[in-house]
Amino acid sequence: MSFGVEKTVSLRNYNALALDATADYFCRLGSLDDVHQALAFARANKLTITALGGGSNVVLKNTIHGLVALVELRGIRHRCVGDDVYVTIGAGEDWSSLVALSLRNHWYGLENLALIPGSVGAAPIQNIGAYGVELCDCFVSLQAIHTATGELHEMDAKDCEFGYRESIFKRRERNNYVITEVCIKLSTQPNNRWQYPALRDALEAKLEVKLGEASAVQVTPQLIAETVADIRRTKLPDPARLANAGSFFKNPLLDQQQLARLMVDEPQIPVYPAYNNLSKVPAAWLIERCGLRGYRAGEVGVHERQALVLINYGSGSAAELLALCEHIQSAVEQRFGVCLEVEPRIYGSF
Ligand SMILES: Cc1cc2nc3c(=O)[nH]c(=O)nc-3n(C[C@H](O)[C@H](O)[C@H](O)COP(=O)(O)OP(=O)(O)OC[C@H]3O[C@@H](n4cnc5c(N)ncnc54)[C@H](O)[C@@H]3O)c2cc1C
Repeated sequence: MSFGVEKTVSLRNYNALALDATADYFCRLGSLDDVHQALAFARANKLTITALGGGSNVVLKNTIHGLVALVELRGIRHRCVGDDVYVTIGAGEDWSSLVALSLRNHWYGLENLALIPGSVGAAPIQNIGAYGVELCDCFVSLQAIHTATGELHEMDAKDCEFGYRESIFKRRERNNYVITEVCIKLSTQPNNRWQYPALRDALEAKLEVKLGEASAVQVTPQLIAETVADIRRTKLPDPARLANAGSFFKNPLLDQQQLARLMVDEPQIPVYPAYNNLSKVPAAWLIERCGLRGYRAGEVGVHERQALVLINYGSGSAAELLALCEHIQSAVEQRFGVCLEVEPRIYGSF
């Protein structure tokens, strides 16, 4: 399809929260040539450019100024080196379909990341992760076009500065690149990671054994992917039925002093070890303790089964959603002295 730019386009069908935002300008990027044409258009008209994938991790306010570019670059190629499989994927490919394809080909490493919505190109932005595995565990490199210079850059994991739901693309280089492809390293040899507590419990229930050294031989990558998918279907609402952006808040990372303070009043809180001697505590648990699970404010609310997920029940607006977000943040801050950081990226103006 030839490249074109449309004016004043509704993004309601392009974001998982189904927020009724309007892009000043909108285009689709199906090739590298389209990316360069979009950059030239943006430069000529002095517009900012916002890359959009599946829209499953964004909060869009009423108007998104500048050019919104839907990334649709396709293609998957691979090369084997011994047991390693290097897979290079176009940024517009669907993440979940990639996980399914890898399992069909017996390329292992993505099974814990089954069923995460969105595109491959967005995966490095927040170093997607679930059930004890993160993108950075198999990430090799990415290619991205710098929006100001039009230059194509290759970046490895060090350049991307990955952290917990973090990368350079959420900080210093926010909105400065359009990622065009991602290369990951998988293996023909399974390396099953089943130790994450919720996954382990579900596997034990399915296999009817206590998992340990000997019994873990029954765990296969396919079983992990199926079990992860089962857990996700029961715990998380499907955005196609109930508009949501997955976890709305990051799980807070606390230093030892903050954790000790919190545990004086809340000795039961689950605690997980994280990077740099920090501890991760579940944001959902804190929200629930504030009595906000299932709380509803007009057309938006907190999901009744998963307190980390905010819902748009139909005609909810970004303003209502962000007011709810602030209400939750101040309730948690007042009660526990812990700041909840928003996970999705917020764009536009009212
Ligand atoms: C039900 C549900 C469950 C979820 N579960 C998880 C989970 O378990 N773990 C997890 O980590 N996340 C989870 N998420 C969040 C989301 O799936 C991921 O963040 C995903 O990577 C977003 O992909 P996307 O294509 O929809 O990105 P979008 O929402 O379109 O974009 C997200 C950000 O990435 C940028 N971006 C997108 N594509 C590009 C590109 N090609 N180049 C440059 N920038 C780009 C956008 O500008 C935006 O800042 C969940 C979301 C939902 C709705």
